[in-house]
Order: sequence, then C-alpha cells, then structure tokens
Amino acid sequence: MHEMGIAQQLIEIAMDSIPKEMVNPKVEKLNLRIGKLSAIVEHSLTFCFEILSKDTPLENARLDIEFVPVTVRCDSCKHEWEVTGPEFGCPHCADGNVKMLTGREIEITSLELAD
Ligand SMILES: [Zn+2]
Repeated sequence: MHEMGIAQQLIEIAMDSIPKEMVNPKVEKLNLRIGKLSAIVEHSLTFCFEILSKDTPLENARLDIEFVPVTVRCDSCKHEWEVTGPEFGCPHCADGNVKMLTGREIEITSLELAD
C-alpha cells in the first residue's frame, strides 16, 4: 500500500501552502488530481489521510479527487489519444514512439480553508 507515503507527502505540501500568519487554520477541502496510472486506491488514500492528518490543520478535511485519464502522443504523426487498455501503440501510424502526456500526476490543485 503506497498510499501512506503519498498521503504523507500531500499533507506536507498542503501544510506548506497554508499562510504562516493564520491562527488555527483549518482546511475544509483538498482538491486533488490523480492520474489513473498512479495506481492509487481512493478509499486507501482517504483512510491513510485520516490517520496522518490527525491533530493537524488538515484533520477532517475532505478529499475531492479528480482522476485524470491516461493520454499519450505519438512522436511520429502527433496523434493524441486516451489509453484505456494495455495497448500503447499509435492507432494512427502503428509507430511505437509514444510519449505519455497525462496519467501519472499526483498533485494538489487547491485547498479550501475554513473562515
Ligand atoms: Zn502515430
């Protein structure tokens, strides 16, 4: 279960982005973008987050996860498409020279603080 390490990192990044001058900050919601290839299980991440965020400003924050599809681009013909199966070859020119555009990200897009 690699969600524990990821939850830890997300909490550290979120804590860093809370303005230092805030007194008793409280995060209500954390908006995340997670690539489908990052192999994160949502309920595992939520579970780890709840454990690790205890006694921090992120305690009880809600995780709003947007799953990002896996998209790639063919270097030969510049065709871009969404990968839904194990096949990564270009359907357009059958070239194997394919670059991943999205699908591996794990990032915080924003966090919402309580007033
Ligand atoms: Zn191609």
